[in-house]
Order: sequence, then structure tokens, then C-alpha cells
Amino acid sequence: MDDCIFCKIIKGEIPSYTIYEDDIVKVFLDINPNTNGHMLIIPKKHFLDINDIDEETRMHIFKIQKQMYKLVEEKLDAIGCTFAQNNGIAQDVKHYHMHLMPRYQNDGWKNVYDKSHIKNVEEIYEKLK
Ligand code: 5GP
Ligand code: ZN
Repeated sequence: MDDCIFCKIIKGEIPSYTIYEDDIVKVFLDINPNTNGHMLIIPKKHFLDINDIDEETRMHIFKIQKQMYKLVEEKLDAIGCTFAQNNGIAQDVKHYHMHLMPRYQNDGWKNVYDKSHIKNVEEIYEKLK
């Protein structure tokens, strides 16, 4: 994918603060972090999203998520973390990636989302059950 930012990061054409890499994934700091240490775990091979990525690679990313969580606990004194993986309208960069956002006391997380569109939980349950 010639015009993919993350493919360019993998090829070294765009610099990144790389935390970890192996044959399958690269982990680097997000350029616009939501919390300190916000990082992205991405496959070296270009996949679009959760429907596109193969299960073996996805499971490897799951394994690395746990290792990176341990790292931020140890090195940044994180006391939690939030993972996010966006698809479709939620996804800006169209190369599969897993966000790891270390969490801290008073990290302002509760203010990240506007909840004004949220409907009654029972109404949503009726549609999903
Ligand atoms: P998405 O909304 O696609 O899940 O998130 C894409 C993420 O990639 C965003 O958090 C954004 O800050 C990050 N990002 C976009 N371009 C770059 C870049 O060139 N370098 C790095 N390190 N992160 C990027
Ligand atoms: Zn790509």
C-alpha cells in the first residue's frame, strides 16, 4: 500500500518512536496521545481492519498487547489501560491497529467522550438480544 502512512512507518520512510518490533508487528507511540504512553500495535503486513486481518496475526497482537501493558505498568507506573481498535467510520488510518492507552489516576478519561447521544440501555438491549 504505497499511500498508507503506517506502511511507510514500517518501511522507515516516516520516523516513529518505536517501542517494540518483531517479524509480525511494530509498536510505536501515537503522534497525538490520549494518555501518556498511548501506543499503536500494528501488523507489518497491510490489513484494513478486523474483517481483513488473519486470525494468526490478530492473536499475535493480543499477545503483544499484554506484554506492552506490563511494560507501561513497570516503566510509566500506569495503573490500568484501555485498548481500542477502530473499524469503519471510527477508523482514520486504514491499516489495522490496536491502541493501547495507559491509564492513570485523574487522567481525564471521563471527559473524552460526548455522551449526549446515548439512549436508554433497555432500548438498546431490545435491539441486540
Ligand atoms: P484511528 O482513529 O484510525 O483508530 O487512529 C489512528 C491513530 O493514528 C490516531 O490516534 C493518530 O494520532 C495516529 N497517527 C496518525 N498518523 C500518525 C503518524 O504519522 N505517526 C504516529 N505515530 N501516529 C499517527
Ligand atoms: Zn498499510
